[in-house]
This record gives sequence, structure tokens and C-alpha cells, in this order.
Amino acid sequence: MKALVYQGPHDRAWTEVPDPSIQFATDAIVQVDAVTICGTDLHILKGDVPEVVPGRILGHEAVGTVTAVGAAVQTLAVGDRVLVSCVSACGNCRFCREGRYGQCLGGGGWILGHMIDGTQAEYVRVPFADRSTYKIPDGVTDEQMVMLADILPTSYEVGVLAGAVRPADVVAIVGAGPIGLAAIMTAGLVSPSHIVAIDIADSRLESARKFGADVVVNPSRDNPRAVIDELTAGLGADVVMEAVGLPETFEQAVELVRPGGHLANIGVHGAPATLHLERIWGKDLTITTGLVDTCSTPTLIGLVVSGQLDTARMITHRFGIGDFESAYDVFGRAGETGALKVLLTATH
Ligand SMILES: [Zn+2]
Ligand SMILES: [Zn+2]
Repeated sequence: MKALVYQGPHDRAWTEVPDPSIQFATDAIVQVDAVTICGTDLHILKGDVPEVVPGRILGHEAVGTVTAVGAAVQTLAVGDRVLVSCVSACGNCRFCREGRYGQCLGGGGWILGHMIDGTQAEYVRVPFADRSTYKIPDGVTDEQMVMLADILPTSYEVGVLAGAVRPADVVAIVGAGPIGLAAIMTAGLVSPSHIVAIDIADSRLESARKFGADVVVNPSRDNPRAVIDELTAGLGADVVMEAVGLPETFEQAVELVRPGGHLANIGVHGAPATLHLERIWGKDLTITTGLVDTCSTPTLIGLVVSGQLDTARMITHRFGIGDFESAYDVFGRAGETGALKVLLTATH
């Protein structure tokens, strides 16, 4: 088969590799029908994720058709169409037992396209297949479904649920890239009174409005704290989400939250940030961090089925699966191309 193989920093290739096969009785093999690229894949390609070794097939989000199941797989059969989640779950460890699959101790967690070969391929081996896939309900398109592999549960769980967004809250989201836009979309499910999007790119702020932000702030022109003060009688935002992953945006997010409020960090950070405890020690803040568990995937599937969540609108560019090189190029130059999520589909 062909697959997108990491060959070392700044080096990738869509190339011929051996087909995957069942290695454990709990595995399934899935023929990939639709697949996308994550910002994390770009981090890997920069060499920021050293545990990814050359030769690894990238990708942790896909929709496909089951072509083989191991002897212990109970809920899947050949021919089933499934979502392959970015997080695999052993189901038995202490963290899986509390739904904290992202922290799985039994060989799961975020392993696809990371510790084992991933989904940017014609076929993928899915470990712990019963608990790492979701069947695609009738009437839900591959496009809607593949957005539920990572970006939507990440923004909903690590942003909206961890941030404890409540109706009538003022929610500020620092960063209006794909994950920030997904956070805006899923925060809207809880009916906040205002969603304030903060970004230095006007094009992303324009997208933020389309995804449900009613106030947008470009910090290179306006002071976000002043805008939020006006909405909150000077208190600050009830919930702030950091969706960038830089020290300065985290530090800005801390400045925007009200006493007793929540700061939910979604961004993936590669450098330390300063926490000004001398200013916030008495403010009763709750600061959360997290890796997605995908425990909310059934909820999000339900929202897609009922028409309350249009996830396919995240997709801006479409390619055939053999065109991974162009797809990476377009996604990697999102500033110029306006790419949010790219979709690659296979014809078989
Ligand atoms: Zn991802
Ligand atoms: Zn586990």
C-alpha cells in the first residue's frame, strides 16, 4: 500500500510500504476512506516530537471500512464503516476506567501516527479496536465524521468542558486557528452571552465571526482586556481558552479572566510560560490543561445526527488520497491558503 511516511525533520514522502496486519487479537485493519492532517503533524515534521521515529506513518484522524478483525474484537465486523479516533483506549487501566482515555496506561492514548503507524495511508491497524472506533450512523457523511476524530472533541473537552462554560458566560478565545474556531463552534452549544475571538490575523477573525464569535479583537490594534472589560463591567471573562500554544498568548489569557473564572489551556506548548502568581494568587482562578480523551465523541456524533453541529464546514480544501504532498503544502501554508482543515478521500 501507499502511506505518508515521516523520514526525519522536514522530510516526508507518499511512498510504498508493507500492508498492515493484525498483530494483537484486539486489533482491526481499516481501509481508509477519508483522512485529514492535524497541526500536530506539522509539529512532528518540524522535529518537535522526538518520540516519532523516521519510518513512522503519520496521521491520527480517519474514517474507513473494516477489512479484518482480530479474534478478540467483539463489536466490529468486516465491512463496518467507522471513525478512527485520535485516542486509542485499552479500556482496562485505571485512567480508562474513569474515561480518561488520553492518559491510558495500557498501551493506548495518542499512539496512532505517534508511537505506532497512523492513518495517512491506504490501510491502518487500529489497536483496541472496540474502544478506539465509532460506527458511522446513517445519514452522517464522511466529511462530518472525520472532524470528530480529534479537533472537535479536543476543543469541546479541553476547552468547553474543562473551562466549565455556562449559559450567559462571556467566553474569550485566544487564537482563531482551526482549534480556536472549533472551540468557538462548540462553546456556542452552551449559549454564552458573548464569544470574543482574539487573533492578530484579520482573516482568521473573519472566520471566527462565521463560526459564532460575536466580538472579534485584533490585539495589534485594540486592547483585548479593554474590550472584555466593557462586556463584563470590568470583571474579566468568565472563561478564557488559550488555543495557540505560545508563552505570550498563555500569559495574555491569564490577564483576561475574571476572579473565580476558568482558564482552559488547549494549545500545545513547546516552551515555558510565566505564571504571574504575584498577581493572581488571590483571584480564585481555575487553570486547566489537558489532552483530549475523546470521551465526548458519542455526544458530538449525536449533535451531528440532530443537525446541531455542522462539522464539515471546517473543511476548506479537498484532495485525492494520492495527493498528500499538495495537501501538506496547502495546510502547511495556511496563512496564505486560508486552509482550516484539508480532506483527502480515497476511491476504491
Ligand atoms: Zn491532532
Ligand atoms: Zn487504558
